[in-house]
Amino acid sequence: MDEPGRRVADLVADYLRSVPRHPVWRPVAAEDRDWLLGQRLPATGRPLDDLVDDVRDRVLPYPMGNGHPRFFGWVNSPPSPAGVLVEPLATALDPSCAGGEHAGPLLERTVVRWLAELVGYPHPPGGGLLTSGASMATIVCLAAARQRAARRDGWNARADGLCGRPPLVLYASAEGHSCLRKAAELLGLGARRVRTVPVDAAFRMDPVALRAAVAEDREAGLRPFCVAASAGTVNTGAVDPLAEIADVAAANDLWFHVDGAYGALGVLAAGAGPRYRGMERADSMALDPHKWLGVPVDCGCALLADPAPARDAFSLVPAYLRDDDAGELGWFSEYGPEQTRPFRALRAWATLSHLGRDGVVALVERTTALARTLAGMVERADDLEPLAPVDTSVAAFRYRPPGDLPPDRLDELNRAVPAEVQRRGRAFLTGTRLGGGSGPVEALRACLLNPATTERDLEILLDEVRAAAASVSEARATRLA
Ligand SMILES: *Cc1c(COP(=O)(O)O)cnc(C)c1O
Repeated sequence: MDEPGRRVADLVADYLRSVPRHPVWRPVAAEDRDWLLGQRLPATGRPLDDLVDDVRDRVLPYPMGNGHPRFFGWVNSPPSPAGVLVEPLATALDPSCAGGEHAGPLLERTVVRWLAELVGYPHPPGGGLLTSGASMATIVCLAAARQRAARRDGWNARADGLCGRPPLVLYASAEGHSCLRKAAELLGLGARRVRTVPVDAAFRMDPVALRAAVAEDREAGLRPFCVAASAGTVNTGAVDPLAEIADVAAANDLWFHVDGAYGALGVLAAGAGPRYRGMERADSMALDPHKWLGVPVDCGCALLADPAPARDAFSLVPAYLRDDDAGELGWFSEYGPEQTRPFRALRAWATLSHLGRDGVVALVERTTALARTLAGMVERADDLEPLAPVDTSVAAFRYRPPGDLPPDRLDELNRAVPAEVQRRGRAFLTGTRLGGGSGPVEALRACLLNPATTERDLEILLDEVRAAAASVSEARATRLA
């Protein structure tokens, strides 16, 4: 293990150092693709050194692209070096952090407390756990919400199932993340019981419309039970009016959930506090340390103002798992679906310890400033059009050359731009559809998460958008000729 181990350490360091010199993304060569997809399980084993060669030659050349200072796709950050550094140690220990008296679960308590402190959320003992990501955190939170609503109505969702009960209704905005609907489907609520609340011109949930929808559903014999607001949407980084939504929730006996997977950390930016007012009133929050914070994937986090409903929703301790020394809080596995749980806390702890609170604030400040800079460049350009205000660190815009392209041509063009930018390899951004007064349009969005990104990188991105649009238009002209 010693020699290959040292080689891997060198490869890691070389890889991270060389990222900015490589294309952001590149197509997988046919031969390597065949190898990655189609190789056969070797009949006999191979030496570790050979495996290291394979990884060097066939895996490292094909990153997804995150980590590069000109990667602006989805919400994928560069990995924290501190997190990368300690991860082999976590896997060497290889504990199950279901619970018990060992380093993993104890450190997880600290990490969860730190995360709650960072975003200004109350943290009772046991009020949260790390998960694979925010999708799983959302399942934990909504299952707790479902169970609390059932208990309040005198039944038990776990024991009774949902049959024969007034249908539970979840409220989310049109810009809410797809994981909310997935969770609702999985929890047996049914996608039709997810009410889409309209958003305003800045893509923030309309609390007046929420109040009306809840009243209407109650009138119809349904059971409104939870509203899920966003502290930073994926499309535009919009932060919903959390305090007003909290008021509607309080007045209507709704569980107030905040999806802060991407944007909750934005509260740390100078002057951003008022925009997040009310977040601290949430019954639960989903965070994603593997997003803005840069903890290497996978690391999500569910925070709970009161851990009891989550335990009520998940605790199931068979005799072979019984631990009479588990303490008052019990095991993490009593608060979520996972039994065997990886040592996520080590890379989260390392990331947070390395940055410190000041470092996290600086990261958030730097990346939000970059997003505003990009939005300013878009604003000043005569061939680009901003499509949303910058609430966090996403800039949403579209390519719109001077002249009068009909709306469907503009849509076609902008829809084709991201793949072409990616193919060119100098920058990486993704697209989406954004609703507006006259219907949704195809949009480009750049999410700024890498503090190593420079203003020059932003100029290159916009030049790449222009170049991509030109080559898409040219290809179309050739096709039509
Ligand atoms: C990424 C994201 C999610 C889903 O989280 P996963 O970690 O991908 O499971 C949910 N909501 C928002 C706003 C996100 O950005």
